[in-house]
Amino acid sequence: MWVPRLVGRSLSQLKTIHTVQFSSRQISVKIVNESNIEVQPEANAKPLTFPGVWLRDNCMCGDCFHGSSKSRKLDWDNFDTRIRPLSLRTDEQSKEVLVKWSDAHESRFPLSWLQERSFEPDKQQKYLRDFYRPTTRHWSGAQFQEIAQHFSYDEVMSQDSVLMQWLQALAIYGVALLRGAPLDEGVVRRLADRVGFIRRTTYGEEFVVQAKPGAQNFAYLSLPLPLHTDLPYYEYKPSVNILHCVVQTDSPGGSNMLVDGFHVADLLRRDHPEDFDRLSRVVVDWNDIGSEDGREFHNIWRAPVICLDAEGRYTRINHSVPQRDSHFNVPLAEVLPWYESYARFVRLAIADSHAFKTRPGDVLTFNNIRLLHGRTGYDDSEQSPRYIVGAYLDWDIIYSRLRVLKKRSTATASCQ
Ligand SMILES: [Zn+2]
Repeated sequence: MWVPRLVGRSLSQLKTIHTVQFSSRQISVKIVNESNIEVQPEANAKPLTFPGVWLRDNCMCGDCFHGSSKSRKLDWDNFDTRIRPLSLRTDEQSKEVLVKWSDAHESRFPLSWLQERSFEPDKQQKYLRDFYRPTTRHWSGAQFQEIAQHFSYDEVMSQDSVLMQWLQALAIYGVALLRGAPLDEGVVRRLADRVGFIRRTTYGEEFVVQAKPGAQNFAYLSLPLPLHTDLPYYEYKPSVNILHCVVQTDSPGGSNMLVDGFHVADLLRRDHPEDFDRLSRVVVDWNDIGSEDGREFHNIWRAPVICLDAEGRYTRINHSVPQRDSHFNVPLAEVLPWYESYARFVRLAIADSHAFKTRPGDVLTFNNIRLLHGRTGYDDSEQSPRYIVGAYLDWDIIYSRLRVLKKRSTATASCQ
């Protein structure tokens, strides 16, 4: 259906539009291969091809699209994938392409909307990189000082631009440090609320890491904590750790150790491809058994150490010696070779890890599905306590917040 787009536009504005219009700026359109539409935004511009079936599927008229929820409401039970465009027009004033379809329907598409959804591979890559998820940059332990960005806690809490920079750094490098946080127990919750909300686990929402007698979890001992990822026994593994240092031990220990698991996987893929293949293929049982607040739990998730997506990109690293199950449901012949490959991965990770000590008021944030972390042992006593408050955030929530912030900052920039 044709919707008049001139409502609300004053005559003087119309005139302005009219006078700046040159023929070279005109949109040209044509039907190609019977079902596709080629749009040339202006003379000499590269023509953009759009499949007819996709355009019909994305008609934005009131019958096909629900504007306020920005959702398709087209009757897909009767959708015709053989749909054909019959005729095309352009509206130079509103900069729109108008299509009449073989099902007697009519659609109009703003040129800017089409350009943003271009099927050109470089445009698609740009959208994925700038808006879907930032591209990760992998680092070695020796590069830690270069890549670890610091932000002021107060600025993250009060300025959207700084919040966006923090989340962007976290997405790219998997680690970022906030400084100057107050020394109360509410910091991790306030920070999580600033992004979205805390991801709850078996161990609650906020958790305290300090030496506890009779600890249910290995982290709650003052012993050295070897490199690991948290909670590998969850299918939906909490994504980002927020560790707020409230009190730090004066003893020489208690340092954080971090290593980029994606970088270690890169090294393995380059130098030991068979080990890489095995660790990304053999499924390991991860588990956690215990009780918290009187509730018993028995968590299991089965997944390789290096998890890859359909395009061979890393999605997740799993490693935790205490939380690797004694059940190992693989063929007998896989067992010893897997141990050899795993031991190599662990040796590479240890060799590449970077140690540093957080100070009271520091909030260390890092990607738990990418980085391995650990802690050197410390002497826990009344004279030398250590008190860290932690919580988790999920990437779905972080990426969503980042996109909303980016959209807002682009809108603000284009208004100036
Ligand atoms: Zn429609």
